[in-house]
Order: sequence, then structure tokens, then C-alpha cells
Amino acid sequence: MEKRINDELSFKLKTIFEDAMNTYGRQDFARLETLEADDLYKRQIDNYHDLKNRGLKEVICKFKVNALMDVNKQSDEMVKVKFRASLENYIVNAKTDEVVSGIREYIVENIYEVLFIKATATKTSICKSCGSEIDVSKGKCEYCGTPVTLKSSDWIVYNYKQIMGN
Ligand SMILES: [Zn+2]
Repeated sequence: MEKRINDELSFKLKTIFEDAMNTYGRQDFARLETLEADDLYKRQIDNYHDLKNRGLKEVICKFKVNALMDVNKQSDEMVKVKFRASLENYIVNAKTDEVVSGIREYIVENIYEVLFIKATATKTSICKSCGSEIDVSKGKCEYCGTPVTLKSSDWIVYNYKQIMGN
């Protein structure tokens, strides 16, 4: 059974997901890293570079959650949410800006299933500088001293998938 949780949390999670999607759309990776779990962040960076190597760029803009469809509290540190959201999403040739997939300035509506975790639930991370596994609570890499990127909120996006849409 779905368990309803308080509206303040739902609103917070909606705001974080909108921020993450629009930040990814702007390719502001420094900020994106503060909104997401490291594994998701790395996959998105990989996806960006994969497209870039093929001369392409994904455009995501005007991402807006329109409805909260389900809130399912999995534990004190994990919440699964279903959102209906609208956005512009298309792929362009990075050089010519010509649309190669999707439609420019056309709003599509998708449904996303998003898993959020408490940022404090991620106790280890990988150092960006030397690749060592680091204890997030220490604030910096014990091997090379590189500071750990702090998350922007107590909740972060752990994973998401598009479950319906154009
Ligand atoms: Zn290090």
C-alpha cells in the first residue's frame, strides 16, 4: 500500500527533482553533483560525453513537475515518488544547432519514477582527484586532501526513470 507523507517533504522533493533536471539541461555539472547521488551523477556525465563524442547535445529545458502521483516511503532514508512533468526535450547537432531528434519549443509530458535518499545515507564516495574511496563525514579525502562535494539538501536524487511519455 502507498503511504502518504507530509506535504512539506513532497514539495521539497519536487523542487529538488526540478532543480536536478533543469541543472542537467543547463549542463551545470558542478551544481548537479550537489543534487544527486554520485552514481547517477557519473552516469549523466557519461551520457553527456557519449553524445558529445557523436557531435550531439541533448536539450532539456522548462522542466516542471505538474502533479505528484504517488509518494511511497520505503524507509526513513528512502522515498519513491511518481511525478508527472512537462519539459522541452530534443537532441541537436552540437555544431549547427540543428534538431536531429524531437521537436524544438514543443512541450512534452512524461511520468517519472524517482528514488530519493537522505544525503547523509551516502557514507562513502570516490575521490574526484585520486580515485580513493573516501568517508563523506570526514569532509575531505584522507589520501590527497581534496574536499568532498557537499550535497545541497538533506535529500538527493538517487535514481530516476521515465515510465511513460512521448
Ligand atoms: Zn583523493
